[in-house]
Amino acid sequence: MQYDIIFIVGEVFFDHPLSGIAILKRYLEKNGYTIGIIEMPKTEDDITQLGKPKLFFAISSGSIDSMVRNYTPLKKLRKLDKNLDYNEEVPNRAIIVYSNWVRKNFKDSLIVLGGVEATLRRFVHYDYWDNKLRKPILFDSRANILSYGYSEKQILEIANRIKNKQDLFGIFGTCIISNEISNDFKLMPTFDEVNNSKEKFCDMHNLISINENIAQKIDNRYVLQFKAPIYTTKDLDEYYALDFSRDVPKNLRGFQFSIVTHRGCIGECNFCSIKASLGNRIVSRSIDSILNEIKQITKHHFFKGNIDDLGGPSANMYGMDCNKCSNSCIDCKNLDRSNNQLLKLLRLARKINGVKNIFIRSGVRYDLVSDEYLKELAKYHIYDTLKIAPEHIDKNVLKLMNKDKGDLKKFIDRFNKLNTKKKLSFYFMVAHPGCNLQNSKELSRFIKKFENCEFVQVFTPTPLTTSTCMYYTSLDPKTKKKIYVPYNYSEKKEQKRIVMDNVK
Ligand code: SF4
Repeated sequence: MQYDIIFIVGEVFFDHPLSGIAILKRYLEKNGYTIGIIEMPKTEDDITQLGKPKLFFAISSGSIDSMVRNYTPLKKLRKLDKNLDYNEEVPNRAIIVYSNWVRKNFKDSLIVLGGVEATLRRFVHYDYWDNKLRKPILFDSRANILSYGYSEKQILEIANRIKNKQDLFGIFGTCIISNEISNDFKLMPTFDEVNNSKEKFCDMHNLISINENIAQKIDNRYVLQFKAPIYTTKDLDEYYALDFSRDVPKNLRGFQFSIVTHRGCIGECNFCSIKASLGNRIVSRSIDSILNEIKQITKHHFFKGNIDDLGGPSANMYGMDCNKCSNSCIDCKNLDRSNNQLLKLLRLARKINGVKNIFIRSGVRYDLVSDEYLKELAKYHIYDTLKIAPEHIDKNVLKLMNKDKGDLKKFIDRFNKLNTKKKLSFYFMVAHPGCNLQNSKELSRFIKKFENCEFVQVFTPTPLTTSTCMYYTSLDPKTKKKIYVPYNYSEKKEQKRIVMDNVK
């Protein structure tokens, strides 16, 4: 058979709502399209196995950038790391490689890019692995259009337009290359300008937003970003109610009965890519939609009574939807920090027949945890440890991470006063811009007092984040003040070693 659309994906495909590709596939099928999937092609022959699609190839590296997947923060090939169970094969710069294979074998086929790698490389970006600026990925891949962020609405509109032989101009949430621009686009500094000036690169970075039409001149053409479409509770309820088999690969068995309650994050941590890809607002599913999914799960032949996780990027941001203005929610007095909506959901979910436990394994944002939520969390929903990600303890480093909102010591006291047998586990980061050896020693002394320091990672400059802008420019992009950046690999390693020495 000839499929309407063929997805080429740099990760294992599984038909589960935790997989973005599975949601797109099921959603397109619901709308009458036939979908073929080629997962992790290793050679150019692999991408010809399903023939040519009637409409287009949709290419994605999956939920992680291929360079982050293949290299450690110190640029060591992950597959050479004997401590890692790493047997996946995805080429470096997977999207460009897959697109070139398609172009070579199906010259006139249309190519649509999506996923994290495409999203974060949609403008000029600093590439840590090349240690230089690269042009938007549409130029290197010669694809026809790029869909950024969530993509259900975009991909359906793209499919409909191609089917009806309409052009691809102006689709919300996409980027294209154009020879001209109209005056409803905000102009970023050009490729040449940002290549010649670190200050201009900061100016460019400060303009990145998903809420506006933005253009950037590259040589004699422009990359045009059309602002993102609005996703609502109703949309999410529709997507998560699609008919997934819920089968998962071996390594995800512990997540088979996980449920996504919401999308997005209001935290705006500078090292995180969510803001540049998905914006800074929460969209939650309705309580009914989540309860219905749990009821469906209880009928699954493998279900033994445990919901593996109920969460999102931060579990306790469920219900924090607000769109009254464009300011930063995390700093807003009007933000509803009660966790009441989440408590209501959890109380109803616990009563569902067949459910023995509902675990929260997604991390929680500790500065947004109300007393009532913390009590119920500890009593009913923590398997053994509650994950939090303070990332650091030094005020200056935290400020540069935009993570200086909470009081970690107070939170630990609040948790300990509950006298629960459960524990906290911590995630920390070293070698972030602004973080020196002294700061790491300070963090190390702090860690000595606690068990369960789950993870200490060295900062990786992924494309398009604010922290990566700091790394490339040595400047704070907002103030343009100089900041210390540990570039030297031996220092990065040393920072990690100092902290790890005190991990119990
Ligand atoms: S009012 Fe506050 S919580 Fe609501 S959108 Fe504005 S900043 Fe966010």
